[in-house]
Amino acid sequence: MGLTKSSVGIKAIDSGLEILKQTENDKVVAIAGNPNVGKSTVFNNLTGLNQHTGNWPGKTVSNAQGYCSTKEQSYVLVDIPGTYSLMAHSAEEEVARNFICFGEPDAVVVVCDATCLERNLNLVLQTIEISDKVLVCVNLMDEAKRKNICIDLKGLSEQLGVPVVGTIARKKKSLDNFTHELDKLVTDDKPQKSYRIRYTQPIEEAISIIEPVLKKTTGGRISERWLSLKLLDYDESLNNELIAYFDEDIIEDEEVKQAVAKAKKHLADNGINETNIKDRIVSCIVLAAEEICMDTVKYDKCSYNCRDKKIDKILTSKYTGYPIMILLLLVVFWLTIAGANYPSELIGNGLFWLQDKLYAFFVYINAPSWLSESLILGVYRVVAWVVSVMLPPMAIFFPLFTLLEDAGYLPRIAYNLDKPFKKCNACGKQSLTMAMGFGCNAAGIVGCRIIDSPRERLIAMITNNFVPCNGRFPTLIAIISMFFIGSAVGAGGSVLSAVLLTGVIILGVFMTFITSRLLSKTILKGMPSSYTLELPPYRKPQIGKVIVRSIFDRTLFVLGRAVVVAAPAGLVIWLMANIEINDISLLRYCADFLDPFASLLGLDGVILMAFILGLPANEIVVPIIIMAYMSEGSILEFDKYSDLKALLVENGWTWITAVSVMLFSLMHWPCSTTLMTIKKETGSWKWTGLSMLIPTVCGIVICFVFNTIASLI
Ligand code: GDP
Repeated sequence: MGLTKSSVGIKAIDSGLEILKQTENDKVVAIAGNPNVGKSTVFNNLTGLNQHTGNWPGKTVSNAQGYCSTKEQSYVLVDIPGTYSLMAHSAEEEVARNFICFGEPDAVVVVCDATCLERNLNLVLQTIEISDKVLVCVNLMDEAKRKNICIDLKGLSEQLGVPVVGTIARKKKSLDNFTHELDKLVTDDKPQKSYRIRYTQPIEEAISIIEPVLKKTTGGRISERWLSLKLLDYDESLNNELIAYFDEDIIEDEEVKQAVAKAKKHLADNGINETNIKDRIVSCIVLAAEEICMDTVKYDKCSYNCRDKKIDKILTSKYTGYPIMILLLLVVFWLTIAGANYPSELIGNGLFWLQDKLYAFFVYINAPSWLSESLILGVYRVVAWVVSVMLPPMAIFFPLFTLLEDAGYLPRIAYNLDKPFKKCNACGKQSLTMAMGFGCNAAGIVGCRIIDSPRERLIAMITNNFVPCNGRFPTLIAIISMFFIGSAVGAGGSVLSAVLLTGVIILGVFMTFITSRLLSKTILKGMPSSYTLELPPYRKPQIGKVIVRSIFDRTLFVLGRAVVVAAPAGLVIWLMANIEINDISLLRYCADFLDPFASLLGLDGVILMAFILGLPANEIVVPIIIMAYMSEGSILEFDKYSDLKALLVENGWTWITAVSVMLFSLMHWPCSTTLMTIKKETGSWKWTGLSMLIPTVCGIVICFVFNTIASLI
């Protein structure tokens, strides 16, 4: 049965409760599952949307919804964050649990990984306890086949008492069976007779004390058995949600209170208390999953995961892990730099050729010179520079990065860096958020939600800016190419550039460690929390899809944002360069004002001003510097690095200036989008201010020290 896609948009929701139906008849379906099992792939293939997919746990941190319809039924699908359980240990688990429990979905699909079904069944069993409309989707059937794992889907369905379908979500066709079962499920009025976890006798008895009382209070709107268990489990995260859902505090109902007290006393009499009840509940769930799998899953222990273990031995070993990480970084940068050079020049030539034509056209139509100059030498020129310098490296860097992500390498980086981060009393998952910061620091900040401890999350947010985002890469690459590669061209030149760029990145990582340690010893004191970082299986990346996705989702998105900022910035800077008071331009006034302080840092007033004006987006820092110099200098063509270098040298740049600019680019305030994201995520101006202050102070101190020593030498 085919799908007729009708996707009309996507909306990220954090509370998990705000659903936008297109028609009254739409059925709401929650897509749950452990992290990294293919939920987003199922969601994307059904809705035609582009939720981020990637081979590492924790990349989806909020709910998203999309639409799809089959011949029989239209749906709102809600992709909820991946979780291992619904016990609400973390923010993601709470979002997932709240949606399944209080979002009143018409059905819940639990996507499972066929290669480790037993672990996935824990979530299935917990979901079945809450909802009586569940469909189990056993995904990654191709991987299971490759690993010689056989799953009896029919037997599994009989045991669980809910429909089970096998899928290969990457192949859209394989989802036909899935939608067919979903149609049947949502149109079937009978409640499912699903598997019931058998808890130990005292727990079962305690449940049976509360359940009948709750039946009267809840009016059947929620599974009383599940809620009884939760009330025994001291799960306070549920209280507010219950009050909001029922519009009254049902737990405070006298009869309920008495029943809960009686049940808890019964448990206490049997040695079960606040501290050990969760463990007892979990072990019953784990045991149930084990029993079910014993009959339905067959695999050969020897061949299972052998290949992954061998690769992990190399990629995460004490001796080879770090060198391989640095080497991979180097290769990615080298490919980016070497590959971007020629297209950059080509695009630059094309755009500046167009600039001449546009200028000629404005002269031809007798446009006033202030108009043609502000539009062409202001707006157009800055935009052209941003496009020609940014587009090629991004179009190479993002797909390469996404390939590593899709193959499953990112969690290995986190694994390798876990120890040093722990030494700084921070969290190893911070390295994943750092990796996201390479693309865009704002994305890195949102990604910090994968860190459960609020203290460690704050450390990760405050230090994220030490990894240069894609807006800063072009600046670093351009300066390295101009000042440090000299006459070395071709492969040698680009290897050297890549080595230098890798050095700058390593400095950024080093600063992240130092600052994290400093923070955790001072204002964010605490011990590192323990967590389990799952190493997902290596998967063959889908090269075609990765390229298309990273070009459209990331490259063009970041470029679009840069252009939107660059265009007005171009106009402002042109105006500043051309509005004169007492024969001195506004630009010069500002630059002269900043000059004394800037020169202490090895910069000059123009450069510092460019960094300040570049607050909306780092991409425009170099174009502003160029425009500012050009409005006073003599060079008008700068489509080649050598011309650009001549312009900079003419304005007093030396190698010391170049290094200082690179250092300051690596360490200064985050862009405005990142700052806004930090404010949104922390809800606090204090932490936002600190995130701005810390890298800036580091940059100022390091530039000052470097400049003083270098000048002495
Ligand atoms: P989520 O974390 O559950 O949303 O998982 P994603 O949808 O991001 O998928 C994780 C990774 O598994 C991605 O690299 C997907 O391309 C890949 N993937 C998803 N479904 C399948 C499948 O059926 N077979 C294979 N081989 N890979 C899959």
